[in-house]
Parts: sequence; C-alpha cells; structure tokens
Amino acid sequence: MPASAGQTAKKDYPITPVPFTAVRVTDGFWAPRIETNRTVTIPAIFKKCEETSRIDNFAIAGGLIKGEYKGERYNDTDVYKTIEGASYSLMVHPDPELDRYLDGVIAKIAAAQEPDGYLYTPRTASPGKVQPGTGEERWSELAISHELYNAGHLYEAAAAHFLATGKRTLLDVALKNADLVARTFGPEPGKRQGFPGHQEIELALVKLFRLTGKRAYLDLARYFLDQRGRGVTLKQYPPGNRFAIYNDATQIQAHKPVLEQDEAVGHAVRLTYMASGMADVAALMGDPAYLAAVRGLWENVVGRKMYLTGGIGSRHDRERFGESYELPNLTGYLETCASIGMAFWNHRMFLLTGDAAYLDVMERVMYNGVLAGVSLDGTLFFYPNPLESDGKYRFNKGRAGRAPWFGVACCPGNVSRFLPSVAGYVYATRDDVLYVNMFIAGEARIDLAGKTVSVKQETRYPWAGTIRLTVDPERDGEFALHVRVPGWARNRPVPTNLYEYSERGDAKVAIRINGKPAAANMDKGFARIRRVWKRGDSVEVVFPMDARRVTAHPAVKDDEGFVAVERGPLVYCAEAPDNGGRALNIVLPDKTALRPEERTGLLGGIVVLTGEALAADPTAVARVGEAAGMDAAADDEEEVPPASRRRLAPGAELKPHRLVLIPYYAWAHRGAGEMAVWLLKSN
Ligand SMILES: [Zn+2]
Repeated sequence: MPASAGQTAKKDYPITPVPFTAVRVTDGFWAPRIETNRTVTIPAIFKKCEETSRIDNFAIAGGLIKGEYKGERYNDTDVYKTIEGASYSLMVHPDPELDRYLDGVIAKIAAAQEPDGYLYTPRTASPGKVQPGTGEERWSELAISHELYNAGHLYEAAAAHFLATGKRTLLDVALKNADLVARTFGPEPGKRQGFPGHQEIELALVKLFRLTGKRAYLDLARYFLDQRGRGVTLKQYPPGNRFAIYNDATQIQAHKPVLEQDEAVGHAVRLTYMASGMADVAALMGDPAYLAAVRGLWENVVGRKMYLTGGIGSRHDRERFGESYELPNLTGYLETCASIGMAFWNHRMFLLTGDAAYLDVMERVMYNGVLAGVSLDGTLFFYPNPLESDGKYRFNKGRAGRAPWFGVACCPGNVSRFLPSVAGYVYATRDDVLYVNMFIAGEARIDLAGKTVSVKQETRYPWAGTIRLTVDPERDGEFALHVRVPGWARNRPVPTNLYEYSERGDAKVAIRINGKPAAANMDKGFARIRRVWKRGDSVEVVFPMDARRVTAHPAVKDDEGFVAVERGPLVYCAEAPDNGGRALNIVLPDKTALRPEERTGLLGGIVVLTGEALAADPTAVARVGEAAGMDAAADDEEEVPPASRRRLAPGAELKPHRLVLIPYYAWAHRGAGEMAVWLLKSN
C-alpha cells in the first residue's frame, strides 16, 4: 500500500472533494446515464478499440501476437481513458465481467512496456518503422509525438484502477514509466530538457504524487509546465506537411512561459489540461504566481471565449480558440473533450478558492456542453458541439449528426470517464464546513472534522428546483452547511459580463430548516447555515425555475439580434422535429410567455418550453460574412465550414408559430435537421 497523500504533502487544496466512492447516486437524471455508460458506452468503446487494433497494438508491442502498429500515435490513450472510466464505474457498481476484461487488457499493456519502463506502442510495436509524427528516436519530437500525453492518460487510468480494485497491475506499469520519465527529464545536468506538445502528463503526475507521496512526480509536473515557452525551439515542418500546424508555438501554448500567458490561445483541450495542472501546482506547492496566472486564463476564457453551453474552442481549424468574442454558432467547434477539460479545470478552481462561481461554470458545462457529446442510448457521439445546425453542414467529422466512432477518437473515451465520476463533484469539505455543490439525488457518508455525517439529497433537478437535504450526524454537533445557490438563481448566468438575462427574475431562493423559513448568510455564492445539527434535521432549498431569456455581450457579433432561453441549469434549443421541420427561421418576441411542460415520453423524459412565437419564410434567412478558414492539412475528416452568421431580411413577413424548445443536450436524436440555441429576436 503506498503512503497516503497528506503524509508527505505539506500543502494541498484547502477544500477536499468527497470521493465518489462515498456518494451513492440514485438521481433520476444522472443514475440512468451512469448505468448506460457502464452497460453500453464502455463495452462499445472497448469493442471499437478491438476492431481498430488499438488493443492489438499493445499485444503486438508485447510480442503476444504478430503484426504491425496500426493507427495514430495517440491511439493508446483511447484504451487508457476507457479503463479509467470502467474503473470509476467498478467503484460505484461491481461488475466481475468488466473487472476480468480489464485484467486482460492490462496484461497486454504490461507486456507492451519495455524493460526500462518505456511504453509507447507506435514505436515498440513496429521497431523498424517510424510512425508519422513519432520521431526517429524516443522523445525526439515531443511537440507532436504524444509520448508524454499517452503516459499521462496511462497514469490517470492506473490511479483509478488501483483505487477501484486495489490491484497494482496497472499502477506498477504506470509508476515504472513515470520513474523513467523522471530519470529522463528535468532541470538537473545530464537530463533531457523539454515539454510535451499535448499537456496531460502534468495533472496525471500530480495524481501519482497523491497516491504515492513521491515528491519527484510533483516536481516533474511543475518542471514540464515551467519549460513551456522558455526558448525551446520547435522543429519546423514544410508547408503542406500535416504537422506544419505545430510550427506555430501558440497552438501548443508554448509561445510564452505559462506564468505570462493571460490569453487562451491555441488548441482548446490542451489549454484546459494545462490550466488544471497549473491549478494543481498552485495548490500543492502553494504558489501564488501559478494561482494568479491560472486565474487570468480563466477570466479570459469565461469572459470572452466561452459559449453559453460552457463549451470552448470556437474554430474547427486546428481545434483552436478564436479571438475574443469570436463565437460562431453554426461552425463553432466546442470539442466534447474541451468541455470535459473545462469541468476538470473549474472544479480545481473551486477547491482552490471556495468560490461557487467556478462551480456555476462547471454545472453549465456538465449539463450542456458535456452531456450533448453522447447520445441518450450511449452509442453515438459528437466531437464538435455547435449551437446551431442547418441539417446540411457535416460538422461532426464528415457527418451532420452523431457518429458511432471517429478516426481521432478522443471524445468517446473522455465521456466514458466523466459520467461515472460526477458523484465526486457533489460534496466537498473544509474543516467543519460541508459544501453541497451539485444537486444530484443520493446518499453520502462524509467524514467531517472527525465525525461521520450522513447526507441524503432528494431532488428532481434539473427539472424542478426543490432540493431536500436530510442531515444525520453520528452525534449532535455544530458545523456549517454551505449550499451553492447557482448564479442562474441569482440573476447571473455566468460570473462575467459575457451573457446576461434580459430581465431580472423576481423569484427569491427560499430556504427552510425543519420546515421553518430560515435566513442564510450568502458568501461566495453559498448559502451558509451554521448551527448545531441533530439527527434527521432537514434543509429545503427552492430555486426559481422560470424560463429566462439570455443575451450575449454586444461584442459577440454572431449573437447580435438573437436571444437564447434557459431554465435552471439547462440551455434550451429549437429543433426541427418539434417546430414543423424548421428552426433557423423562428423569431422569439420579447412578450412571448414560455411555459414548461413535462413530456415523459420524449427524448428520455424532458421538460419542454412552449410559447406562441413567430416564424419567417425560410428564404428570408441568409448566411452573411466570411466563411471560417480551414487549414487543409489540419484534419482530413473535416469539410470546410460555411459562413456562420445568420441574418433575417429586413421587413420579412412573420407568421404565428407554436414554439417548442428542448434541452440542448437532447438534440440530434431524430435525424439531421435544423437546430438553433440562439433564436432571432423580434424587431
Ligand atoms: Zn475529443
């Protein structure tokens, strides 16, 4: 058993999440998704990994079967991420068959490891042949080889598998590899200098540090971050070469030292993983410069570069951030992995600061940006998640709808590891404070300042705004309960001025303790209730669940003249099947009342919003402005995006239209067709 974290770590996040092993989710919204992930998505991804040689690559590298390496240089990570997801799943739901399957895959991974710990099947499986982008020798093209990126996902999978099963099989492989990386890289004389082109190993090394207490892993995580943008010359590739996109150091956030980066640029997923690693360093090393830098990046993203769904990275071209306020809807990229990265990053920012603003962003991206990435039945995926569709533009790697798999298959595995981990985002503690961060029904046993407190949460969130908490301390005693009051319930959709509600809601958040109205002190977005708690005490919090109209900052030209609709944490959209076959021509007058209606038979059971709106003739709606550029070498699954901005012809005739809005996450289950989050405003 490794030394537990805390024995050697002097500093840490001031707030500790309650591990999802201590939280049993019974929630009507999340529990079925977690179950579908376990029974459908995880087996489907493993099957794809088998069919595409992703698992055979390990067996070939290990000499277990004959063959040649097949696929891209990062394909090992799809297996690692799904092992991580399967491990989280095993923790909350024992499954001997899945456990045995993992043992088999892990045996192949272990066989693929070279005697000194090196593990990278593109090199080991075909030793005589240099795979594209891997470099002639080990570590020789770090900006593009993904050798260290792959290692990072191995470490995360290994940590999860060890915690889930107690088995060291994958952990031993990961530690042997991490020890090799630590012997190879670092500031000491005689070691290699460098940093990975795709961040990931940094936050993963921190996980290994937590598990083992081995300081070298934490130091190495910081070293890799510190190395970025410090005069390392990147190899230049000839024009037209598929790797020429990496000639630009901003693509991999290596144009400046990380502590000097105050604008989110380049590849969006990489930035979120880098920022998560920076938050880890800020917390575990107590470094205020790291905290200031990661906060600056967050303010830039959430203030200027985030979509209403919490998704980020607006450009298909190179999967990059756009300029400030460049948020096209039809052609927006919003990679599912970037949404998941936003959740990881924002959770860490909360643990570091205690500010619920970060959880508000996390909730937004969980319920909208992330959930849209997987179909309700768990078999189909989005890689990009645009806020608009014309039913024709094949935004999803060559398709106008969801896909069972992708050539670059990062997103499905990422979804598979995110869903079973949501239980770990519900509660957190700091001294004798118990934070209730997310509203997910279930039961938890929480260690709070030396005593066990059981908490039962009952709610129909996100459909209804009532949260009922039953608090059962093992003995009566004083402590504080901090219940997040979401920004959307306090007239702030986001903690910046990027989006605003059109009107202030009047409804107040109501709190009752043991049935009696109670006043709570608000601080950093939490209702704080400090008292002597007794067994069976109850707290009821009621959030106002009116449908709310949102507008974007005037600098977001793509949303100028448009309005979006939210209810609770959910962003809504109009989709063709509910609206007479069209959605892009719908006009939502300011005075239209929007009424919630429960539709248990529709899209897995949802609350729709209906109202008497207007619609223009479809020919009165035009695309204007420049089409987004696309580097032909960037991605051969991509088609060139069309012009994105939508405009209604002046004086267009408008006819009455019965509007039906569905939650954004539930779109694209009824064939390709029009969809819009941003609806034309009446003029
Ligand atoms: Zn992805």
